[in-house]
Amino acid sequence: MVEVFNGQFTQQEPIPEDGIAAANAVMRHGRLHRYNTVKGEIAETALLEEEFAALTGAKYCLALGSGGIAMTTALRAAAVGPGDRVLSNAFTLAPVPGAIAAVGAVPIYVEVTDDLTIDLDDLAGKLGQAKVLLVSHMRGHICDMDRLMALCDAAGVTVIEDCAHTMGAAWNGAPSGRHGRFGCFSTQTYKHVNSGEGGFLISDDAEGMARAIILSGSYMLYERHRAAPPAEVFAQIRYETPNISGRMDNLRAAILRPQLQRLGEQAARWNERYRLVEAGLAGTPGLRLPVRPEKEAFVASSFQFLLPDWEAEKVREVVARCLARGVELKWFGAAEPVAFTSRYDSWRYAPVPVLPQTDRVLAGVVDMRLPLTFSLEDCALIARIIRAEVSAVFQGEEGGTVTLEVVK
Ligand SMILES: *Cc1c(COP(=O)(O)O)cnc(C)c1O
Repeated sequence: MVEVFNGQFTQQEPIPEDGIAAANAVMRHGRLHRYNTVKGEIAETALLEEEFAALTGAKYCLALGSGGIAMTTALRAAAVGPGDRVLSNAFTLAPVPGAIAAVGAVPIYVEVTDDLTIDLDDLAGKLGQAKVLLVSHMRGHICDMDRLMALCDAAGVTVIEDCAHTMGAAWNGAPSGRHGRFGCFSTQTYKHVNSGEGGFLISDDAEGMARAIILSGSYMLYERHRAAPPAEVFAQIRYETPNISGRMDNLRAAILRPQLQRLGEQAARWNERYRLVEAGLAGTPGLRLPVRPEKEAFVASSFQFLLPDWEAEKVREVVARCLARGVELKWFGAAEPVAFTSRYDSWRYAPVPVLPQTDRVLAGVVDMRLPLTFSLEDCALIARIIRAEVSAVFQGEEGGTVTLEVVK
């Protein structure tokens, strides 16, 4: 009998009841705008920033309308402008090169390793080409951040971290987003906390954060923030910085605050699922699992494996056979961009370089979401299905049509 999985790979958990209650309270009083407060009231957004700063150990935190806005705000606050070049990962998601393009800058892509992190040797060779690196911890894989920072510090390159997939994660004990000058986070539905859309920027840099706050659309109300630099830092910056509205609102902040309290707990649940799938796939012929270094404390909201040097046709067959059994896989080797998945050679508004190593790695990268609505039994079943189908295709078994018998 062929086992089939019936879960929804895009189904996140509901908003916790205390988040719903807090959101209802905001809707009842009607003061959704972050600067719309009554005497003595502290806005949900200001409290959220204070709590996220405490969680990450950052001096300053700014809540924003999306992760993409967090990245463009960080780039602008780091004085990146039209024509500037910005180093970034070749393996990432479209909003990352999109943020670079949004400020008129040009991405210079760095190769990816077999463990899906930015290739630090390739980066070392390209540091002379830009003053800023927007490093993306794509799918939660964190490179050797100590070495990355040493390389960038020595070259005078400012580091901005895209932590869309590393909220709650750490490298060598330091929270993700705390290595570079700015850390950017997303609170979009598919990330580690869910407000539909939203983002954070964190930093210890007072002037950079003052610029970011004005950029975000604070008008002259920055003193209502609780995780912001002191007012005197804004003295000149408030005249020199444009207001580019991208604020978070109190409704989303109310939904997020209780979720931040549970982040550690949720991270443990994600990792339990990840380790189960990893154990279920270990030793599958033809399949390689990314190595997760001991210093990397990850939060695995998704799972990646590699089918290294496989023919494209065979990878497509694995994806199709798994889908026929209810397991939705995304392939980063496809020539055409599909849904959320695209690659550097599809971002044709920017120069497309020749990146042979990235081409080779991406040709084998298979990606899967692991939402917390999946039980541990679900994860074990998913691993059995992938293992069986990868093995069958690897051993050249006749695929043909998979006969389905629903077991649940
Ligand atoms: C989702 C995502 C972002 C941007 O987040 P939004 O909130 O959707 O703008 C940035 N980087 C990566 C790698 C992402 O997956």
